[in-house]
Amino acid sequence: MSFLHCAPLTEGLLEAVLVVDPASECIVAVNAAAVRLAGSEREAMVGSRIRDWLPEPQDVIYWDEWRAGIVQTLESQTSLRRADGTLLRVQRRLSPLQPEGDPPQVLVAMQELHAAEQHLETLLAELRAALESTSDGILVCDLDGHIRAFNRPFATLWELPEALLTQPDDAAVWGHLAACVPDAAGFQARLSELQRSPLREAHDLIPLRNGRLLERVSRPQLARGRPIGRVYVFRDITERAATEAKLRLAAQMFESSLDAIIVTDAARRIVAYNPAAQRLAGLGPGDAQGDPVDALLQSARHPDWAAERDAALAQQGYWEGELWLRRDSGPGVPLWTSWVLLRDDGGRVLNTVVFAKDLSEKIEAQRRIEQLAYTDPLTGLPNRLMLDERVGHAIRLAQRSGDGFALLFLDLDRFKSINDSLGHLFGDQVLVEVAARLQRCLRHTDTLARLGGDEFVIHLHAADQGAAEKAAQRMIAAVTQPVTIDEMPFTLSCSIGIAMYPQDGTSLDALIRCADTAMYQVKERGKGHYRFYQPQMSTELLARVQIDHALREGLRRGEFELHYQPRVTVRTGQIDGCEALIRWHRPGAGLVMPGTFIPIAEETGLIAALGAWVLDTAVAQAAAWAAEGRPLQVAVNVSALQFQQPHFVQDVAQALQRHGLPPRLLELELTESILIRDAEEALAKLRSLAALGVTLSLDDFGTGFSSLAYLKRFPLHRLKIDRTFIAAMPEDEADAAIVAAIVQMGHALAMEVVAEGVERAEQLHRLRSLGCDHCQGFWFARPMPAAALRTHLDGVPGAGTAG
Ligand code: C2E
Ligand code: CA
Ligand code: CA
Repeated sequence: MSFLHCAPLTEGLLEAVLVVDPASECIVAVNAAAVRLAGSEREAMVGSRIRDWLPEPQDVIYWDEWRAGIVQTLESQTSLRRADGTLLRVQRRLSPLQPEGDPPQVLVAMQELHAAEQHLETLLAELRAALESTSDGILVCDLDGHIRAFNRPFATLWELPEALLTQPDDAAVWGHLAACVPDAAGFQARLSELQRSPLREAHDLIPLRNGRLLERVSRPQLARGRPIGRVYVFRDITERAATEAKLRLAAQMFESSLDAIIVTDAARRIVAYNPAAQRLAGLGPGDAQGDPVDALLQSARHPDWAAERDAALAQQGYWEGELWLRRDSGPGVPLWTSWVLLRDDGGRVLNTVVFAKDLSEKIEAQRRIEQLAYTDPLTGLPNRLMLDERVGHAIRLAQRSGDGFALLFLDLDRFKSINDSLGHLFGDQVLVEVAARLQRCLRHTDTLARLGGDEFVIHLHAADQGAAEKAAQRMIAAVTQPVTIDEMPFTLSCSIGIAMYPQDGTSLDALIRCADTAMYQVKERGKGHYRFYQPQMSTELLARVQIDHALREGLRRGEFELHYQPRVTVRTGQIDGCEALIRWHRPGAGLVMPGTFIPIAEETGLIAALGAWVLDTAVAQAAAWAAEGRPLQVAVNVSALQFQQPHFVQDVAQALQRHGLPPRLLELELTESILIRDAEEALAKLRSLAALGVTLSLDDFGTGFSSLAYLKRFPLHRLKIDRTFIAAMPEDEADAAIVAAIVQMGHALAMEVVAEGVERAEQLHRLRSLGCDHCQGFWFARPMPAAALRTHLDGVPGAGTAG
C-alpha cells in the first residue's frame, strides 16, 4: 500500500511527515504539517533532495548507510533548514516504508523540539524517581547558585522545614543550611568558592550542630562538556566516622604507644608488634612474625609461668606478671606484662594482646634506693641496717637448723691518730683499703659491714669457733700488710673481738655488745690480736671506763708516785742503776700497780701525758741524786704511743736540760712493738736519742717478734730478758738454753744483757755462769720510793756508784 493512498490520514497528522526515495534521495510526498514546518510549498518540496532540508552530517550520511544496508532507523535531534534558510531544531525519526511491490521508501517524521518536552517530562520523572530512591541527599544548583532541585533525603538530612519543600525559596534554604552548621561563615565561604570555580570537584566533611557528620561530594553538572550548574551529594557518615575514628585511634595507639604491644593469634604466635616492641626487643619490623611469643619471654622466679598464665587467661581472659624479655645481644629486659584474650561473638579465641612495660629503670631506681639505704657510702659495704637484716635472717635460719654462726667486731688500732695527724681524706682512703682487704678474706655468704668510724662487723655464716679464729687470723694478716697511700708507706693493725651465736647472745645487739667487749680486751692487752668473748668481760669493761676517768683525775691531783727498783752488776754485786716504776695512790683503793692501769692509759691515749710526767719526775730524781753526789742511772719505761709523739726526742732533751742531768744517767726502756711499727721513723728517733748520749734498752726481750735482723739495725745498748724466762730457771733447761742464747746474741751484737725478775740465789748463780751482765729482781730489792732507795743505798755496801 502506497503512502499516497493514505494521504488523507497523513494530512491530518500534527507531525510533519515526508516520504523519500532512498535511491534518489528525493522527496516523493509531504503532508501539510511538513509544508508548514518548512515554511515552503508542497510543489517546491516534492521532487527536491532531502539533504537540502536536513543538512546535518548525520542525516547526509544516513542515506549512504541506508543504501549500504547498515542502518534502517534513526531518531535524534537535528536541524531542519526552512525555506527562508533558517535552521529549526527538530526531533526527527527516519524509518523504512515497504509498500508491497513498490521499491522501498523512507518515512521522515519530524516535530519541532518543544513538542518533545512531553517526552522529556517522562524522562525527568524517571530521573526524579531514581534520585529519590537513593539515600544520599542531592541538591542541584545552576551556575548562579539558584536551586534547581533537591531530593527528599536531602531535606531529611538537613531537616528542612516542611514549608521550604513546597514553596521554593533559595535564600531560606541556604540560610537554613548555614544555621545547621557550627561554622556558618566557613560553610558559606566554601560554597561561594565552589561557585566561583564551576569545574571544581570537591569533597568535604561537614559536622552539623545536631552531632551528625555529613560528607559532601560536589561535582559540576555538565551539558555537552560545558558546566551548567553544580550537583551536591550529601551522605550521613556519622556511624562510619565513629568506627573509623576508633580504628584510627587504635592504630595510632598501637604505633605511638610507649608500651610494647604484641598481638598473637589463637596459638600465641606473633602476628603484629608495635615500634615500642621493636625497640625493646631489638627486632626489625617483621623479624618475629610467626614466632611463638613465649619464646621471647622467660621468668626468673616461676619456671612454669606460662601454665599459670594460660590458666588465668582461660578463666578470666586476663593475666599480668613480671617477665624477662630475652634479647639476642646483651642482658634481658625486665618487663611488667598484661595479657588480654580477644574472643569473637561465638566465644572463640581470636587473638592475645600482650602489653609490656619496661621495668629496667624502675628496678634500677629501686636498687639504687636500696643501695643508699643499705650501704655505707664511703666503702660501699653493707651498713648497720643491712647487717640487721642479714643477721636477722641468719638467726631465723639457725633457729631451724640448729647451726650457729660467729659475729666479729673489728677495730683498727691507732686509727684515730692517723685521722688526726694526716686528715680525714687520708683516713677515708685507709678505710676503703682496709674494707677491700677484709672483703678478700671472706666468703660470699659472709657479710662485712661498716658501722662507722673504723669499726667493722663481720657475720661469718655457719662458722664455728675454729672457722671464726681462722677468719680473724686471715683478717689481721691482711690488715697488717704494709699499705702505701699518697706515696706514704705505713703499717696498720687491728683488734678483733669474737662472739658466737647462740652461746654469747641471740640477737644482733647482744652479739655486737659481746664482740665489742672482747675487742676492747684485745686493745687492753696490746692490740693487733683477736679474742673470744668471755662473760666476765663486761664487768671488766665497766671498770675500765671508771679507771680511765679516775686516771685523768689522779694525774691532775698528783696521785702518782715513782718507785725505783735497783739493778745490780752481776760481776761486782754493785747497784749500777734503777728502774722507775709508776704507782698510783688511788683514793679508796690504796696503792695501785701499773699492770691494772697502764694498758687502759695506752688505750685511751692518756699514756702520753702520764709518760711525760714519769720522764720529768724520773729525770728530776736522778738529777737530785747526782746533785747529792750519789749519781745513779734511772731507767724509764717508754710506751709505744709516747715514743710516737713527734716531739718525743725533744721532750727527752728538754727534760735533761731542765734538770741539768748528764744524759748517761738516763736510760730509756723500749718495747719491741715500738721498733716494728714505722721502723724507719723509729730508727731515726733512736739514732737521735743515742746521739743525745742516752742509754737505750730493749725491754721484755723474748716475748715478741724478736728478730736478729732488726736488732742489728737499731742503736741499742741493752737487752732486758723477760722475767718469764728467768722464772723457770734454772730447773727448766729449755728456758735456760734460751737465756744462754740471748746472752750470747746480745754480746755478739755488742749489747749488755739484763735479767729481770731474779727472785732466787740459784737464778743469780745460773745467770752469772751464763755471762749475764746485770740482774734486777726481788732477790736484790723490791721497787721502793726514792727516799727508801736512798736509805737502801746507804745500807748496801759498795752500792751507790753508777756506770
Ligand atoms: P716491766 O718494765 O717489766 O717492769 C718490771 C716489773 O717486774 C715491775 O712490775 C716490777 O715490780 C716487777 N718485778 C721486779 N722484780 C721482780 C721479781 O723478782 N719478781 C716478780 N714477780 N716481779 C718483779 P710493776 O712495777 O708492777 O710494773 C709492771 C709493768 O708496768 C712494767 O713491766 C712496765 O711494763 C709497766 N710500767 C711500770 N711503770 C711504768 C711507767 O712509768 N711507764 C710505763 N710506760 N710503763 C710502766
Ligand atoms: Ca721495764
Ligand atoms: Ca720488763
